[in-house]
Amino acid sequence: MTNKLKYFIGNWKMFGDLNSFKIVNTINHFSVTLKKSKKKIKIVLCPPNTLIHSFNKKLKHKTISLGAQNCHYQEKYGAHTGSVTASMLKKIGAEYIILGHSENRSEGEANKTIKQKINSALNQNLNVIFCIGEKLNEKKNKRTFSVIKKQIKDSLDKKFNINKIILAYEPVWSIGTNILPKKNDLRLTIKYIKKEYMKIFKSKKIPKVLYGGSVSPNNIDLFKSLDEIDGFLIGGASQSSKKFIDIINNYYK
Ligand code: PEP
Repeated sequence: MTNKLKYFIGNWKMFGDLNSFKIVNTINHFSVTLKKSKKKIKIVLCPPNTLIHSFNKKLKHKTISLGAQNCHYQEKYGAHTGSVTASMLKKIGAEYIILGHSENRSEGEANKTIKQKINSALNQNLNVIFCIGEKLNEKKNKRTFSVIKKQIKDSLDKKFNINKIILAYEPVWSIGTNILPKKNDLRLTIKYIKKEYMKIFKSKKIPKVLYGGSVSPNNIDLFKSLDEIDGFLIGGASQSSKKFIDIINNYYK
């Protein structure tokens, strides 16, 4: 089994209340025990904004990080009802932020706006989890690579610090559907993302790329042999401490 650093990042989406601290606390305890092993793992949980501050205050011996799921592109306070800036999230304890998620893209979020959001988040020294991925019709029309290339080109910038950005390949047709990409397709796509990023931005640094889409304790085995994947963005299954911990345990079994 690999000794490379692997990320296990939970995207709670619109789930949870103050009682959900139990889930975070259980995962943090598990993470404390992991520290004693030689495994290089980074666990990040991204609950709704309403919970970040309270979870951050309550966690003792914190070995996991907390993240947010979106922010406004504007850096300063302003007339944007219902929105928050990256700095507001940073101040309540977020260390990571998911940007460009397909659920937000489907509500009209464009690559250009995502780029502004990434810029705002990086200015606050947040670690960005930048989601990319094709829709089912794009996959059927063999447009996976061209869609991904455009998302990378239009939302990233050479001046962005790639050490603070983790790309997450999330084929839209796999999110919440229990449908997984074929192993070889996934390997080729992850390799393509790394190569294309380096080519577009003439970078010598290989970016980190996660996989996201229906990851569960029952299917995590499939990913064990894909060492080019730097970790996982886990949606539904991260809302249960048991499932999230089982994913990690099964991955290293
Ligand atoms: C996600 O929404 O980022 C995700 C990966 O969801 P799920 O694991 O539920 O498919």
